[in-house]
Amino acid sequence: MNLLRLKPGKDRALSRRHPWIFANAVADVEGRPAPGATVTVLAANGRFLARAAYSPSSQIRARVWTFDENEPVDHALIKRRLAQAVEWRRRWTPADARNTAARLVFGEADGMPGLIVDQYGKQLACQFTAAGVEHWKSAIVDGLVKATGCTDIYERSDAAVREREGLALTTGVLAGEEPPEFVEILESGVRYLVDVRKGHKTGFYLDQRDNRALVQAHAVGRDVLNCFCYTGGFSLAALSGGAQSVLSIDSSGEALALAEKHVGLNGFDAARAEWRDADAFRSLRDLRDAGRKFGLVVLDPPKFAPSAQHAESALRAYREINRVGMQLLAPGGLLFTFSCSGAIDAAMFQKMAADSAADAGVDARVIRRLSAGADHPMPIGFNEGEYLKGLMLALAG
Ligand code: SAH
Repeated sequence: MNLLRLKPGKDRALSRRHPWIFANAVADVEGRPAPGATVTVLAANGRFLARAAYSPSSQIRARVWTFDENEPVDHALIKRRLAQAVEWRRRWTPADARNTAARLVFGEADGMPGLIVDQYGKQLACQFTAAGVEHWKSAIVDGLVKATGCTDIYERSDAAVREREGLALTTGVLAGEEPPEFVEILESGVRYLVDVRKGHKTGFYLDQRDNRALVQAHAVGRDVLNCFCYTGGFSLAALSGGAQSVLSIDSSGEALALAEKHVGLNGFDAARAEWRDADAFRSLRDLRDAGRKFGLVVLDPPKFAPSAQHAESALRAYREINRVGMQLLAPGGLLFTFSCSGAIDAAMFQKMAADSAADAGVDARVIRRLSAGADHPMPIGFNEGEYLKGLMLALAG
């Protein structure tokens, strides 16, 4: 039997059901477990704490499968967890005539540490970022087919975090057919094309679904600026919500080319949409210096802080774009501002926004605090799961 014993006093987080065991908490390991093998985790006094997947090369040395001593880690557990994950989405973010895409499995939140599965219509796309789920890959593929009835599963295990687990980057078909060039989905009634093979993450930022719906609901009659637009998620939401004009900026020509296709695909007036291949920091300043004003601004930049060491420089970058974003707002204008950096928490983000408002000299109010949708649940106490945070702010006037 593989055993992992913790150092004295290092069992507190696990007792609170935090699912990670860091290398520095481990006293010793018995039984020479292979990467991804199941280890029984014991407190220093020998008390059972959990069963976990062993990751010998990662700082996160083990990730918990179960806190229940009576629950073995086997095919049945994998199958049950996947069925529960799919059931959760049926309850909270069910597919309907206007929405055909959702995150089906969100790692630790679904008791499947390191596994992401996204559904785009009948196509599934998944990412394995930890040794445990890598070890159970074929059981996971079987379980997904059974739980969803979807037979086409594509792997996007090309995220750099895999290297920290000692896993090589890999992509390809896991079951069924090669995905088409683009998979078409519907989100809040808007048609989008998803490049499952080469798009960011698994092709689409599903985590922003509720926030795009909010922009859709508030865009009518407004001139909209969408910075870091990727394939035009928020831009199309604004156009479908009746925006007067939408200016979208991204530094990826490929993403913009797909974004532009979405305008025609949805039958929107191309004259209302302008796409700019440019650096958003620079464009924001140029627009401000040219005296432009917008009724709604979206700032959804990439992760500026890949780890806690980068938090300070990231906050400076967030503050810069938010200051200028606020200066670009017309009276009564709305700002939707986000951070997907796990190292910046909601309190830090709100303080940054307050600093930006002070710099800009504007009177901004919080209308809503924003996060990812219910298909990205967060176990309470697992703060690492709460990476996406945002604010909907309104200027007076
Ligand atoms: N809001 C989008 C997702 C944004 S992802 C959606 O709802 O789908 C972040 C985007 O920022 C990426 O498309 C990336 O190409 C772009 N990006 C990164 N750095 C940039 C920069 N300096 N200027 C403009 N775009 C940038």
